[in-house]
Amino acid sequence: MITWKGAEISAKLKEKVEQDMQKLGRVPKLVIVRVGEKPDDVSYERGAVKKLHSFGLETETRVFAEDVENDVFQREFRAVNEDPSVDGILVLRPLPPQIDEKAVERAIDPMKDLDGISPVNIARIFSGDKSGFAPCTAEAVVCMLKMNGVNLSGKRVAVVGRSMVVGRPLSMLLLHENATVTICHSKTVDLPAVCQEAEILVACVGRARMIGRDYVRQDAAVIDVGINVDEDGRLCGDVNFEEIEGRAAYATPVPGGVGGVTTAVLADHLVRAALFRAQKNV
Ligand code: NDP
Repeated sequence: MITWKGAEISAKLKEKVEQDMQKLGRVPKLVIVRVGEKPDDVSYERGAVKKLHSFGLETETRVFAEDVENDVFQREFRAVNEDPSVDGILVLRPLPPQIDEKAVERAIDPMKDLDGISPVNIARIFSGDKSGFAPCTAEAVVCMLKMNGVNLSGKRVAVVGRSMVVGRPLSMLLLHENATVTICHSKTVDLPAVCQEAEILVACVGRARMIGRDYVRQDAAVIDVGINVDEDGRLCGDVNFEEIEGRAAYATPVPGGVGGVTTAVLADHLVRAALFRAQKNV
């Protein structure tokens, strides 16, 4: 089984980002908006900041108290959104219950919405309009496949998970690459049999090591999006990596797989957003 490492894809994306930065002629800025101190958010932010800085990009983090009032948050968010020095925004979600998250999704400038949360960008993803921004993780999966030389056209792909963050947008991106996509979820009957049909299996379930040998077709490619903590407190994916050895032809590890590509895609989106604004002169 060949391990597809995120670092290799990340390095290729870095080259593209550097070329685009030369065209741009300045360093674009990302603002990360975080409410509270949730360990998952803090850890994702740390990874994103480190990656963007290593790509030569600028970041700023706006942190709000966990109990910030909705009015205050929306006002501050609007200011970030309208700030001409800001090229891209990443909102760490879910936001706490007192914050109207839908209002944030509607308010965010689609041209600065690097993680595809705006209804405008979601519509673009579903209609196949490539000018929009897809959620970075969904796009990272497609990059992982294409940059490893996979031609998705006509391939049977099973996506396990249908969230708006990963499973659904990813399924649309794969469809636009002419893959034949089966979207699976918690009500799918006989999930292992459905997954066994797939030449490419993508796990975005959020259940530690759930996808074992009996889910995997012989010589399939298996992409693991899951980030979980097992009963021993160790970071692991949705796939039982050891168990699929000898069954899958290719697989991505956790850690060291899709996660690092996600932040590289974020960097790519930031430069694309800045180039787009430069073309539009805004
Ligand atoms: P959600 O919890 O929002 O969605 C999980 C999906 O899995 C749902 O569609 C659910 O089905 C389905 N599911 C749950 N249990 C089963 C089951 N037993 N059988 C079949 N389907 C099941 O999670 P996310 O999409 O937000 O995240 C998925 C994973 O990806 C998580 O581990 C998360 O940490 C990770 N992640 C990784 C990122 C990265 O950068 N690498 C970024 C974002 C997420 P139903 O709809 O029926 O409930």
